[in-house]
Amino acid sequence: MTQSRILVTGGAGFIGSHLCERLLADRAEVLCVDNYYTGRRQNIAHLGRLPGFETLRHDVTLPLYVETDQIYNLACPASPVHYQFDPVQTLKTSVHGAINMLGLAKRTRARIFQASTSEVYGDPIVHPQPESYWGNVNPLGTRACYDEGKRAAETLFFDYHRQHRVAIKVARIFNTYGPRMHPNDGRVVSNFIVQALRGEPITLYGDGAQTRSFCYVSDLVDAIVRLMATPDEICGPINLGNPAEFSIRQLAELVIATTGSRSAIVLRPLPPDDPRQRQPDIALARSLLGWQPKVALADGLAETIAYFRHCLGVPAARVALRA
Ligand code: NAD
Ligand code: UDP
Ligand code: UDP
Repeated sequence: MTQSRILVTGGAGFIGSHLCERLLADRAEVLCVDNYYTGRRQNIAHLGRLPGFETLRHDVTLPLYVETDQIYNLACPASPVHYQFDPVQTLKTSVHGAINMLGLAKRTRARIFQASTSEVYGDPIVHPQPESYWGNVNPLGTRACYDEGKRAAETLFFDYHRQHRVAIKVARIFNTYGPRMHPNDGRVVSNFIVQALRGEPITLYGDGAQTRSFCYVSDLVDAIVRLMATPDEICGPINLGNPAEFSIRQLAELVIATTGSRSAIVLRPLPPDDPRQRQPDIALARSLLGWQPKVALADGLAETIAYFRHCLGVPAARVALRA
């Protein structure tokens, strides 16, 4: 049997590195394309010696001519801090990146996966969010470069599908966490863990009553690979996430308890357009993929904390000395 040649854009990022690892374990040939904007070589360093693995430093806003059977398009900064740093580049990555990868899929007849996001629902009025909900996005705000970029990318995927018969798989990913998140990434799980391990104040934005539903990365990667393997008529969009919903204050308390940290919670202003609630309706994923998340937040946090302890050089004993 010939091996599948799989292109992963954003492969040196948090989710992308776990996906590359999984695909290599499934014996595919993997080409990881990344411009290292938010990704890191160290995320994929352990894959470097595997015979099926290759990397290419490349920006997806530029055309890319390679031969491939499948494309996973994950290239895009994902944390609000990073995607708002250079909003024009964020939009270019989503829109020009999607056009280039769809053009590549069209030429090579490759199947293509798009890492879309729960942000397409904006600050949702419908709760939990089913795929049929069109969302409530401010198109002019500071989050719009990401939200509208991802929405436009979805439009491009469905137009390439209708117009050029490209086989597409669009997933709307809800907040995902785990090892290899960047310590300075700015997202809530990494911020809280790093702050707790360093004994710094935990920065709770707003009153912490806003909610998110957190999916552990191994569950997400399993769902992504299952979606790619579905028949051509299944295009999505399909929600992927863990429906267990927590307030951000609950998350802060759980991180403090799990790390045994003495950090205090301090309140900081809520960023503009911060969604008040978010929970995926995963009925479609359950029925089409036979999938549901397995890893509870407490267990996933324990793994993620162990990773950050190692990265930051914080021994378990230091934070265990709790009064
Ligand atoms: P990440 O920032 O760790 O990974 C993104 C990767 O894309 C990085 O390696 C970065 O260097 C690369 N990249 C950015 N712009 C690029 C460009 N122009 N050309 C080539 N590479 C580029 O973030 P992540 O959490 O791993 O997210 C991966 C994908 O999943 C993103 O598309 C993100 O929007 C989507 N997503 C993630 C979440 C989540 O909670 N983690 C939720 C919804 C959607
Ligand atoms: N493209 C690419 N690699 C390919 C084929 C296309 O990067 O193997 C890019 C190319 O930049 C092109 C875009 O994808 O502009 C869209 O391709 P499409 O065939 O849809 O449009 P066209 O080539 O007519 O602009
Ligand atoms: N948040 C927080 N403190 C932080 C970072 C984030 O309270 O140090 C909040 C943020 O305001 C939001 C939630 O946590 O309500 C999730 O933020 P994140 O940036 O992780 O993702 P997103 O808002 O894109 O879901």
